[in-house]
Amino acid sequence: MISTEEILDTIRGEVSLGESMKEHTALKIGGSADFYVDPLDRDDLCRALDLFEARNLPYRLIGRGTNLLVNDDGIRGAVIVTARALGDYTIRKNIVTSGAGVSLAMIAEKTFSASLGGLEMLQGIPGTVGGAIAMNAGAYGQEFSDVVSWVEIFENGKPRVISRSEIEFGYRYSSLKDHAVLGSGMLLKKLSSAEHDKRDRLRREAFQKRAASQPLSMPNAGSIFRNPRPEENPSGLGAGQMIDACGLKGVHRGGAMISHEHGNFIVNTGQATAADVFELICLAKDHVRKMFGVTLELEIKLLGFEQTLC
Ligand SMILES: Cc1cc2nc3c(=O)[nH]c(=O)nc-3n(C[C@H](O)[C@H](O)[C@H](O)COP(=O)(O)OP(=O)(O)OC[C@H]3O[C@@H](n4cnc5c(N)ncnc54)[C@H](O)[C@@H]3O)c2cc1C
Repeated sequence: MISTEEILDTIRGEVSLGESMKEHTALKIGGSADFYVDPLDRDDLCRALDLFEARNLPYRLIGRGTNLLVNDDGIRGAVIVTARALGDYTIRKNIVTSGAGVSLAMIAEKTFSASLGGLEMLQGIPGTVGGAIAMNAGAYGQEFSDVVSWVEIFENGKPRVISRSEIEFGYRYSSLKDHAVLGSGMLLKKLSSAEHDKRDRLRREAFQKRAASQPLSMPNAGSIFRNPRPEENPSGLGAGQMIDACGLKGVHRGGAMISHEHGNFIVNTGQATAADVFELICLAKDHVRKMFGVTLELEIKLLGFEQTLC
């Protein structure tokens, strides 16, 4: 057992009890976390992890909550946010060292401005470096795993650096998904002026495609489902195209709606609950299974759910 006093005495940063996760998720949905922890710095965060592990208090590190659906009943245990404690980075020649809390869009912009290639197509992804490692975030032919050289995790009471070769990455998958990631080292490619110009054009095209196809003005959590593996999907369609073919764009449940712009996005039109989103997830899965014989798998991470219901 752990007492609230012990948590408050150990952590120097901010600890909020019963903090609503609505303000900490891109979907603006979710009940309260028992403890919402915003550590002061890296040492403070490690102290918190050490305490929670020693006392068996469940915890979860989050970045910007851009790929999360948090249950309406909230999250038991602690949610630890990384932006402040793990928000430092350095760029030396083509080597980038970044804390897990650093904004992916910001580091992609900074490195590309320094004529370093490898992250520029990820600039439209609104999460953190830690989230990008846990999810192996990717877009338009680039994945975070392409540039990772090493990752620092917290394990058995202390930080440990592991090399790229010890980590398994796949499509929106990383073997580190259940570890606490403190930071990462990345090796980028020095770009010639001609290469920089070419990639800049591709990068701008990607921004335009995003703006034209994604509901960026409404709260959402990016793609809800992973695109199915080609061998399991004779149609060759992406998850969003399948949902569109089922006629589900614009379908509402409570305050949640399958986006008109993109079938694989669910938007919060104002007062959506996690239960509303979950109903739409089950509806889409059911229709796609019946029409295409494909079982869609979630890309978003569910927090606070005891089980997946469909
Ligand atoms: C409009 C929009 C567009 C998007 N486009 C893309 C896209 O093109 N490609 C793509 O891949 N994703 C996309 N996403 C999804 C999302 O931005 C990425 O998955 C991102 O990497 C998540 O980062 P985050 O910091 O917000 O993580 P969170 O959503 O906070 O967390 C996601 C998962 O990562 C874990 N995590 C976060 N930080 C850590 C850490 N330090 N240590 C251990 N685990 C951690 C969390 O526990 C959780 O399991 C999009 C989202 C939105 C809203």
